[in-house]
Amino acid sequence: MNRLLLGSALLLAAASSALAAEVPPAVLAPPFVTAGPKLVEPHLHIARSNVTGHARVALTFDACMGEADERILSTLVNERIPATIFVTARWLKRNPKAVAIFLQNPDLFELENHGEKHIPAVDTPVLVYGIAAAGSPDAVRQEVEGGAAAMVASGIPAPHWFRGSTAKYDLSAIGQIRAMGYRIAGYSVNGDGGSLLGAAITEKRISSAKDGDVVISHINQPTHAAGAGVARALVDLKAKGTEFVRLQDVADTGDDKTTE
Ligand SMILES: [Zn+2]
Repeated sequence: MNRLLLGSALLLAAASSALAAEVPPAVLAPPFVTAGPKLVEPHLHIARSNVTGHARVALTFDACMGEADERILSTLVNERIPATIFVTARWLKRNPKAVAIFLQNPDLFELENHGEKHIPAVDTPVLVYGIAAAGSPDAVRQEVEGGAAAMVASGIPAPHWFRGSTAKYDLSAIGQIRAMGYRIAGYSVNGDGGSLLGAAITEKRISSAKDGDVVISHINQPTHAAGAGVARALVDLKAKGTEFVRLQDVADTGDDKTTE
């Protein structure tokens, strides 16, 4: 390789890695991206209350796999705070006691579909945060239908909302899931950063929710610090006069054709 070409190649490589460190892959223009489907992480908002001092907020919790977080569950029940819980077939199987509490409090809990095996609803083979996506339209269908079947088998009403593992999708999977009759649940406030944030920052993020926000956090990581922050934020929001609603209770607006 001649010297000029080699120099250009090195410069390009350096620029490429500097960019990669600062810019999320989705906004990098070719030639910096590797081939793969365009993934979206849709937003969801609910209709505002427009009542000063009574912000309307929808709390949504993912129960991906693992256990139930009693810190959050007991606060929701004791404080009588309504919420929407997205459950997988895997989580349902391991947590019958928590499921029984949900079903005993139908005024509080709306249960919706988080899939069968907790694999991303993306219809081409790709890794999302290191998790292998469903990889085909048939596998996306199985993930959605398998989640719903497990819910109904557990005595839960048939779901109307779906949220996939990682909350990322490709547009064709969104179209497919919508055609199956579901609304797809994005969010507007990432409360706990996948349950990996500390308690103080989690509390701050959730208790800062504004009128019309949809908060996502997790109810399946009892050993993580984030859950303590979630529980405290619920009390903070209630003290502020927040109107808590479930997704089934209000009008909503989702982007990427997730609800229209
Ligand atoms: Zn999940």
